[in-house]
Amino acid sequence: MTALPRRRAAVQTVAGLVADGLVQAEDAPVLERVAQDFRLRLTAPMRQAAGGSAAVARQFVPTAEELVSRPDDLFDPIGDDVHAPVPGLTHRYPDRVILHVTKTCEVYCRFCFRRETVGDTGHLPQDQLDAALDYIRRTPAIWEVILTGGDPLVLSARRIAALVAQLSAIAHVGVIRLHTRVPVVAPERITDDLVAALRQHPSVWVVVHTNHADELTPEARDALTRLADAGVPLLSQSVLLRGVNDTVEALEHLFRALIRLRVKPYYLHHCDLARGAGHFRTTIAEGQALMAALRGRLSGTCLPTYVLDIPGGHGKVPIGPDHLHRDGDGWRVTDPNGGQHRYHDPGQS
Ligand code: SF4
Repeated sequence: MTALPRRRAAVQTVAGLVADGLVQAEDAPVLERVAQDFRLRLTAPMRQAAGGSAAVARQFVPTAEELVSRPDDLFDPIGDDVHAPVPGLTHRYPDRVILHVTKTCEVYCRFCFRRETVGDTGHLPQDQLDAALDYIRRTPAIWEVILTGGDPLVLSARRIAALVAQLSAIAHVGVIRLHTRVPVVAPERITDDLVAALRQHPSVWVVVHTNHADELTPEARDALTRLADAGVPLLSQSVLLRGVNDTVEALEHLFRALIRLRVKPYYLHHCDLARGAGHFRTTIAEGQALMAALRGRLSGTCLPTYVLDIPGGHGKVPIGPDHLHRDGDGWRVTDPNGGQHRYHDPGQS
């Protein structure tokens, strides 16, 4: 097999994708229309990985299918705007807030649930950040601050250090959590300065977004190892995506790779109702069947919880598969191989 030429810069244009051989020249006009609607960017590592993996390419390379809107598509699929007490802050649950520190990402994913807003304005303006921090300061019920975006780790280490320091000075903030694709798609950003910035607070968690083992390049694995070695607890989130990871083998491979890297698979999201992303959606029944099959193959450490963000901002809930059903005065339990068993609570008739 011929080795692909090494990619050293991000690609942000359809012409660049044509030059890379990631799309055909005759498809360029329609893809230009897609790119006008939804931003396009692949970092050098993902540009490289996309050349050798259809699962990676499908996540980042636009297709004409994105021009198809379906009746159920939503502008704000998980209801960020419904629960925004001040700009840039989502307060959906009493004990935690989401702080949208930037709208910029290193890559733009074709299924993104925030695709209508990402990439617009860069980082949160200082006056809005100050107002958000002020809201957190005067709301003692807030125990956890989730930094997201866009991708919070596109900010400089200096900016992250300042933000973590400000949050660390708020006594009731017990945990800071960052949701990011950066360790995977732009691993060179995981520098010593960034790690030191994160380590200022005793409980900073990093949730890595990754959907397929082919994204875990040697450089990404090194970046995750640097974070783990520094004592930063790591979780992962993945989205169940048709044509990317909707097989038992793909998910098994991903979750085993993550656990080996000391990243605990945390959530597998059912794909949201983002506009132009319908071709990525599986049914919930398909997702449940995958999770049931995985339970028979993987230890609990490797298994994430399969969840649905209820459209409209009503929160996130586990969606199965259900192993326990009421059966008369007891329970019917399904084992990992599909066998059915009766169970009675001891002492109950
Ligand atoms: S990195 Fe996250 S926020 Fe940015 S485009 Fe991808 S899924 Fe959306």
